[in-house]
Amino acid sequence: MSHALPTVDVARREARAHAATQSIRADAFLVTGMSNIRWLTGFAGSNATVLVLDDEIVLYTDSRYADRAPVELALAGSSAEIVIARADLGARIAEQLQGSVSVALEAEYVTWAQQRTIATQWLPDHEILATTEVLDRVRSVKDEAEIARIRAAADLVDTALARVAPMLRERPTERQFASALETQIRANGAAAHALETDLGFDTIVASGPNGAIPHHAPVDRVIETGDLVIIDVGGRVDGYRSDMTRTFAVGPMTNEQVRQYETVIAAQQAGVDAMVVGAETNAVDRAARQVIANAGWADSFTHGTGHGVGLDIHELPRVAATAGPDDVYEAGTVATVEPGVYLRGVAGVRIEDTCVATPTGPQRLTSFPKDPEIPVASR
Ligand code: ZN
Ligand code: ZN
Repeated sequence: MSHALPTVDVARREARAHAATQSIRADAFLVTGMSNIRWLTGFAGSNATVLVLDDEIVLYTDSRYADRAPVELALAGSSAEIVIARADLGARIAEQLQGSVSVALEAEYVTWAQQRTIATQWLPDHEILATTEVLDRVRSVKDEAEIARIRAAADLVDTALARVAPMLRERPTERQFASALETQIRANGAAAHALETDLGFDTIVASGPNGAIPHHAPVDRVIETGDLVIIDVGGRVDGYRSDMTRTFAVGPMTNEQVRQYETVIAAQQAGVDAMVVGAETNAVDRAARQVIANAGWADSFTHGTGHGVGLDIHELPRVAATAGPDDVYEAGTVATVEPGVYLRGVAGVRIEDTCVATPTGPQRLTSFPKDPEIPVASR
């Protein structure tokens, strides 16, 4: 079964990158964030630098990618010129920038040492400008091809979890369960897509009291009857990631567990409902947090309500009380809504969906059922 996904077309993104370069009033924009480079050119390797000029884009990479880079860029419809460079990278960039005055760097993706090298050795006569979150902000709004990939990544996880979840009744350790789920996601990916597939991030399986630690890593604890189990898992298709959390109850739930679960479900729904085009992301955070506060657990929801997802697992926008005025949902903004209630030493519940804001309202891209009962084996 192979799903055809719409082709990524970077032509529009190139126009956005040129516009961004002009808006920061630089003659050139030196892009070093690898996800920004992938977004802008289709290049998926681990080493590249991209120079955005007024009327052209140049990608510098090393000889390891001499064969692969032209293929990836052609597939994405990139117009970038490819230059193979290594020790002479600075000289090649300086040559390209002859006659220009200023160059902007991405502050998040340049180390202090690199900045010193660029400013004192490569481009000593240029004005070096620092920018933050320029392309990150632009790429937080996804196009159809990107949303299709995130949805495909989510589908891999939905099917894998349906297949593997029944194992929770058989007293696996957290690590055994995580490993089985990850194997199934990889198998589903290989079967469904010719494109690159993988996990979106390291799976979290947090059972019993471990569930009260939001970013717990799976350990050798045996999952027992009476446990709540948080499973936070994502897939990746062609670089694009999904992020979903479900909480299951092993065996019958106590009244307190039911109340904890239902509070988080209601908080999550309130958050998703608030994810409308034009809204600030902190409105979603407030909506989810209010439901949990009303249940008396304000102090037990200890993290932000969500984050953008795409080529990176955590990207813009921020979905938290600390979000800024730029953190606003646009049509195509993909972000998670993931409230939780963590009772120290007892148990945690978190429910998370990756959602997209659309002109007709929010849509969930992760669609595994929200039911604390462990599903029965499908065959
Ligand atoms: Zn997650
Ligand atoms: Zn998340």
